[in-house]
Formats: sequence, structure tokens, C-alpha cells
Amino acid sequence: MGRLVILGGGESGIGTALLGKEKGYEVFVSDKGKIKEKYKHVLIHNEIEWEDEGHTEAKILNADIVMKSPGISDKVALVKQIHERGITVVSEIEFASKFTEATIIGITGSNGKTTTATLIHHILKQELNVGLAGNIGDSFAKQILEENFKNYVLEISSFQLDDIIDFKPKIAIITNITPDHLDRYDYKFENYIDSKFRIAMNQTKDDYLIYDADDEVITKHLKNNPVQSTLLPFSLEKNIENGAYLDKDTIKITINNNQIIMPTSNLTLEGKHNIKNAMAASTVAHLLKIRKQTIRESFENFQGVEHRLEQVLKINKVQYINDSKATNVNATYYALESMDAPTVWIVGGVDKGNNYEALFPFINEKVKAIICLGVDNEKLMNTFGNMVDVIIETQFMSEAVKIAYKVANAGDNVLLSPACASFDLFENYEDRGRQFKNAVRNL
Ligand code: ADP
Repeated sequence: MGRLVILGGGESGIGTALLGKEKGYEVFVSDKGKIKEKYKHVLIHNEIEWEDEGHTEAKILNADIVMKSPGISDKVALVKQIHERGITVVSEIEFASKFTEATIIGITGSNGKTTTATLIHHILKQELNVGLAGNIGDSFAKQILEENFKNYVLEISSFQLDDIIDFKPKIAIITNITPDHLDRYDYKFENYIDSKFRIAMNQTKDDYLIYDADDEVITKHLKNNPVQSTLLPFSLEKNIENGAYLDKDTIKITINNNQIIMPTSNLTLEGKHNIKNAMAASTVAHLLKIRKQTIRESFENFQGVEHRLEQVLKINKVQYINDSKATNVNATYYALESMDAPTVWIVGGVDKGNNYEALFPFINEKVKAIICLGVDNEKLMNTFGNMVDVIIETQFMSEAVKIAYKVANAGDNVLLSPACASFDLFENYEDRGRQFKNAVRNL
């Protein structure tokens, strides 16, 4: 089969190594950083050659094919060299999808990928043999090797899409597109949009593209760059003939004149954005002929995903909500929008060039106090200083939660929805969310 070199010894790298070895490749894994012990064990146990804390160029540049992990930029000198040699570079989903006949449902977008993918998996698994992979849980490659599901729901980042060649999901979803990760796209939003649309680039009219018809970035791009796929848009604002829309409190999904309806009261998840996610998910379910009753029941018992508007505890009639995964303004927009009570808002971290203007109406309407939690809170203090009576800064989660506890009254919400990245004070957004929950539990 040839020589497969894998750059990056993380979840997708190790999965690809195992699958590649099984399929007869000579495999070499190389990581510039340290490979985690658990992954080293797997490599050693499976007699796969590897190195970490540096790359041996000679062992890499003789590859027939390179699988580049999503975290590695094309700008890295070694990757440039690989391209210059004319070696084929692929992502894990490209490599792995060659070895499965399964129906693939691929979800991309700036926000809502994990929630939508998890919800779709939750519905489909009631009636189908289906795996959940991509940026979630065990790698796609490993699941193909070990489970061989008939269907896969894949959460797909733009980085994975940048290195596809033939990858083609039967059903693609673009949840929404707002500027993110622009450092990897020459600071050009257009490049990032193009990257997201690669999810549909190999689709034909027998495949489906589900997308948010209220998202002007998406609709404008589609108008100027038509795709072959059969389009199934969803909308909160207008009637959709083929696709899904919200009619008062009911989601209506029509595919080839066959309509099903889902009352939003069935949905346990809060917020308009989750109605969008539910529309996308139920469109997939309808396409795959899942029974109406099953979809409704799945809506009712879906518990949501940790760190996404997660209800933590109610203390003295104050609801504490963990939305640590809100690492950009758009995600926080939907969090604040969904607040149904006066809110103490914990915000801050590493600013990615945020423009907070879209949040202003919610600050006036719903936010009674702001707690800025970051190493550098100056921009937040300047932006929101005059908009609320109480604005306090801190660099400690436990203190932020204690302040929130003092400021909040019965009936209020305390919301952690940072709109910023977490790595100034925390390891990652999961660590930030867990620290929040621990602090709340310690109150
Ligand atoms: P992703 O996997 O794309 O990062 P998540 O499902 O993890 O998306 O959600 C990330 C953040 O965005 C959370 O704060 C969540 O509440 C919010 N969110 C979820 N769905 C949407 C959506 N459709 N539009 C905007 N924000 C959303």
C-alpha cells in the first residue's frame, strides 16, 4: 500500500495509524510535541514506528501519503516541504472514509457542531446502527476499524475539510458561519467560508446540504457559488417548501411533499439556536426515515451536552448555567438571548478581536451585573462599564462565582458564557467549565 506518514500523535493520528497498519501501509507517526502515554502504549503494542518531540525530515519526506492532524497549519515549514515534493496530504476523515461504505452525515459550522451532531446521533441510534465521531470521542478511523457502523455522524472542523480530496457526506450540514480561526486563513473571512463549503464540494444531486437559510453569509455564498447538492434549508423566519421552518411553536419539516411536525415544547434544550439545531437534526432524521414518535421522544429525553448552556444547580432560587464552550461572541449572543430572567453574566478570557455590539440590547434588557474573568479585562470594563450598575473584575473562578452569589437574587440566573478563549487562566474550556461547576457546588 505504500508508506503512510502521520503528523500528529493525537486521537485522529493514532486512529489513522491503526487503520493504516491494518490496511497494509507501512506507518510512521511523528509528533513535534510529546505524545500522550496512553497513545504511546497503543503504538508500541501495535508495533507502529513513531517519534515525538521532533520530526525526522528524512523519514517524513519519503512518504507516499501524509495524514496531517487538524491542529497543524499548512504554514508550517515541514508541511510546505511535503507539498513541494508533491506528496498527497489528507486529513483523517479523507483517509478513513475510503475504508467504509457507511452513510455519512457530516456537520460543520462555526457554532453548534457538537450539539447538533450529538442530537442527531441521539435520535438516529434509536433505530439505526450509527457511530458518532470526528471531533467527538473516539476517532472516525478507529471506529471504522473496531466498530464498522453502517452510519456515521461526524463533527467536522474546517481544518479537517481543508485536507479532503474525495470525501463526500451523503448528508452535509452547515450550522452557521461567523468569523473564527482566521489566523489559519490568512485573516480572510472568505477563505474560511470556502473551507466550510468544502463539505459539499464532492456532493451530487443525490446528496443533501442542510443549512441555515437565515444566515446571510451562507445564502450569499451559495448564490455566488452554487453546489450540486439537493438543498434543504431551515429557517426561524420564513416558510420553507423543501426543508424545515418554525411555524409559531411547531417545527415543520417537508421533504418531497412529505411533512412531519414537531412541537418545540418537546425540546428539552433552551434557546433559539437550539431550535435551529433541532431543525437541522430532525431534517436528517426525516431524510433517514426515522419515525416521528422516535424523533419526538428523542427531543424530550436529550440532556444536552456538557458546557453548552448546561444547567448546573439552583441555589436559593438562583439558576447557575455553564456555557463555557461559548468561546466567541456569536455563541454568547444565543446564550444571553435565551436568558428568561435577570442575569449575572461572567465573561472574559482571551479576546479574539471581539466586537460586542450585537450583545448590547441584551445587556440593557437582561444583564444586572457583569463579572469580568480574565487576565486582561480592560476591553470588557471599557465596553460595558457604563451599561450596568455592577461590573467587577477578577482572575479567579472561585471569586467570580462568590461575587455572583452575592449579587444574584431569587429568580435570577448566573451565566458563565465567556465569549472568549480560555487559555489565559485555564487549560481549556472544559477545565474552565469544570472549575465553574466546582465553585458553584462549593457555595
Ligand atoms: P461547536 O462544536 O461548533 O463549537 P457547540 O455545540 O459545542 O458548537 O456549541 C458551542 C457554543 O455555541 C455553545 O456556547 C452553544 O451554546 C452555542 N451554540 C450551540 N448551537 C449554536 C447555534 N446553532 N448557533 C450559535 N451558537 C450555538
